[in-house]
Amino acid sequence: MSEERTNVGGVAVATGHFINNVRVTSPSTFEDRSPLDWSLKLADVARGTAHEADLALRAAVDAFPTWAARGVKKRAKCLHRLADLIDENIERIAIVETLDMAMLEESLRLRVIARGARNFRAYADLARSYRSRRWRSNGTRNRVLRMPAGPTVVITPWNAPFMLSTWKCAPALAAGNTVVLKPAEWSPLSCSLLMDLALEAEFPPGVFNLVQGFGNEVGTALVSDPRVRRISFTGSPETGRSIGIAAAKNLVPFTAELGGKGPFVVYADADLNAAAEKAALMYDDAGQVCLAGTRLIVEESVRDEFLDRFTRATKQHVLGDSRESTTTISPLIHPEHLARVQGFVDRSLEAGDTLIFGGKRRDVEGLWFEPTLIEPRANDAEIVQREIFGPVLTFQTFQNEDEAIALANSTAYGLTAMAFTSNRKKADRFGAEVRAGTIWVNCFLVRDLSAPFGGTGISGIGREGGDYALDFYSDLKTYQVREDTTHG
Ligand code: NAD
Repeated sequence: MSEERTNVGGVAVATGHFINNVRVTSPSTFEDRSPLDWSLKLADVARGTAHEADLALRAAVDAFPTWAARGVKKRAKCLHRLADLIDENIERIAIVETLDMAMLEESLRLRVIARGARNFRAYADLARSYRSRRWRSNGTRNRVLRMPAGPTVVITPWNAPFMLSTWKCAPALAAGNTVVLKPAEWSPLSCSLLMDLALEAEFPPGVFNLVQGFGNEVGTALVSDPRVRRISFTGSPETGRSIGIAAAKNLVPFTAELGGKGPFVVYADADLNAAAEKAALMYDDAGQVCLAGTRLIVEESVRDEFLDRFTRATKQHVLGDSRESTTTISPLIHPEHLARVQGFVDRSLEAGDTLIFGGKRRDVEGLWFEPTLIEPRANDAEIVQREIFGPVLTFQTFQNEDEAIALANSTAYGLTAMAFTSNRKKADRFGAEVRAGTIWVNCFLVRDLSAPFGGTGISGIGREGGDYALDFYSDLKTYQVREDTTHG
């Protein structure tokens, strides 16, 4: 047991696991570097194995009965305290996450970290306000009760690590489950700060735990353990599949929020300026956003006009240091990821797709990749069909509504879809016929935390958000009492 901390931009960040409310080290560590300057080592982080997975799960199993029995009001108090502490620490969390993951610091400060606090508040309030469904039938009074499900494993990806972790941990904890969180090995530090705040918020030992390390080491140990009663995962479809297999072996319900390849459809009757400006935002955070509309699909009659406006809007982007407020495009997370993005573009151009702009990294020193637009030779091109998770969009056109919808539905993904039109009928048809978990018309990233969230196809299994998440983290039980059962 030890309390090793490292200085990250002036913030002391613990590099160990967090189990039973104490920091735990491992015999080996892994290096965590900053995408802003790859020569800068931020930390040597504890490298968890099956041993630490076991310790964390044991803690979560032991703490579960008391936390579950604590009652929703008392649990909600803890969650509210944590939400307040997150708000008080936005600055520190933003500094660390910017250095660790390179997300734009201003957007972390103004929106993303505060959303983490909102996640805890919203689920605390929602869990408290649950009214069980009641009805009478067959001579019985019936109710649907929620039982906390048990120890829960939450596995999160490297993009927006703090917010995405709170999005899953908050409903699990509010529902009465104990949690073991494993953040991604490329951006592990902001979740470590979350554990400091959980301690300060007086979560009892073992209720909220963190293990650090690699997916194929500590990650597999966690998801395959039979003591786990829920698994909640956000990441790539490939990992989603292997976690699904592990969950199936133990018959454990799991949700998977996976990759996206959202269509961004622009009808000729749309406000083209607004559409072009929103489309240019798809390059934000270097395109490392699962919800982004990365396939621009534009009505043929406004092709040149839209392209002109979109190109002008894109030129406003500034590639730079994510700590500067003038920067709009950050570097990619990791040299391996940069090589992956470059690989997609190179293969696309070799295969005969047309480069409209961009196509290469900014310079040899950093991990920046230029905003890139490619017109594919055909819809089955890899660049259209596979998630790239970088600042690379494709450009296609359509002649009529049927074709627009067919193109929108033409990949294996189904996370989000966007349309721009001034015609409500077209909007409603798009909403009805496009297969995606979330559809935005004339807007983007508008989120209501009570709404269901998830993906269709290879974009995911299950839904979180609002009561959908609280139901997932609970075992629902039907309680029936014969009408003539008397009081006392
Ligand atoms: P990834 O699947 O490589 O890793 C995600 C997490 O899973 C990491 O913590 C990793 O260590 C862990 N992991 C890997 N293999 C594992 C295994 N066998 N068992 C247990 N855990 C394992 O994904 P990534 O590269 O970190 O993230 C990018 C992907 O996440 C993209 O596809 C993106 O679209 C997706 N994503 C989806 C959403 C959403 O809400 N749908 C949000 C953000 C990111």
